[in-house]
Amino acid sequence: MHSNAQQKSKKSSAADKKLEALRAKQEKRKFKGASILDPSLDISLDEFTSFTAHLKFSKRVFALLGAGLSVSSGMATFRGSDRHWRGHEPSDLSDIGAFATDPATVWWFFSHRMMKAQNATPNPGHLALAKLAESNSQFFAVNQNIDGLCKRAGFPQSQIAQVHGDLFSVKCSKHQSSKNPCSYVADVTYPISQALTLPAYIDISDPNDPLPKLSHTDLPHCPKCNSLLRPNVVLFGEATSLETTKRIYEFTSGGPIDLMLVVGTSAVVLPAAMYIPIARNTGARIAFFNLEESDEEAGRVWSVDWYFKGDAAVTVAELLKGVVGTVRGTKLAINHASKIEA
Ligand SMILES: [Zn+2]
Repeated sequence: MHSNAQQKSKKSSAADKKLEALRAKQEKRKFKGASILDPSLDISLDEFTSFTAHLKFSKRVFALLGAGLSVSSGMATFRGSDRHWRGHEPSDLSDIGAFATDPATVWWFFSHRMMKAQNATPNPGHLALAKLAESNSQFFAVNQNIDGLCKRAGFPQSQIAQVHGDLFSVKCSKHQSSKNPCSYVADVTYPISQALTLPAYIDISDPNDPLPKLSHTDLPHCPKCNSLLRPNVVLFGEATSLETTKRIYEFTSGGPIDLMLVVGTSAVVLPAAMYIPIARNTGARIAFFNLEESDEEAGRVWSVDWYFKGDAAVTVAELLKGVVGTVRGTKLAINHASKIEA
């Protein structure tokens, strides 16, 4: 009898341990399910709870990502008084006409942006969005940022449309030539050539610091046709590629959208401005993550929407944690350049 009692007690202690482990697991899950809200944020518990419930229920999720997402990674928004680059308006240098007349200055400008983006790190906002995309193949994003940070955060490339192109890609300047167009495209990392390496220890955005002289032959040339290579970004005076536009249309016309996330963008510039009404028309509820509410009609917050005020990198990570869990750490790896021949 004595040994039976011992056996029973052994059994019950094993069962207790199992139960304890199960409880611990459930607690962990509960934490991952995160109904805990960071009190330092200006978000009400009601909004947090209603958004989390809607996100969990949402199948087709659409996102519009803008400059505000990358600000806390150190990327410039090119707004405000310190936006000038060597006395130029950034928009004047991101221009097809400027590349035609002064490709060297345009290449220095983009090399500088590449260097900064390469040294930047994806923030919790990028990582949370990438995790959401990994966990939901029906999540699709239109990215206005060219900094490559979503890609480095692990965002599946089949689920994101780079409407303004990619800093870490070059293409042949004859890609749209009426005579003998050239389809050369390649992924690159900074510096794209020895000649386009920025001088160390000086800020080349300051016009008082001299730029190294560059001759035409120093600029990167196409290995297929020897024309100039150019950044594979959408410059002023150009339109988003037909293929990218088609991918976005395929998503937006592919069925009702349950939820749209508008992140770090005032969404007032076309074509970005049209995505919010398109999503609304399919029945989507909209969640805005921005420092300020837009005063333009397209970006206006309706009473059925959510508006999460603050640094988008912080608020996005906080609001998505109910589904993707808490994101920690950063991915530093930069994909090595590989040549793509299109
Ligand atoms: Zn070429």
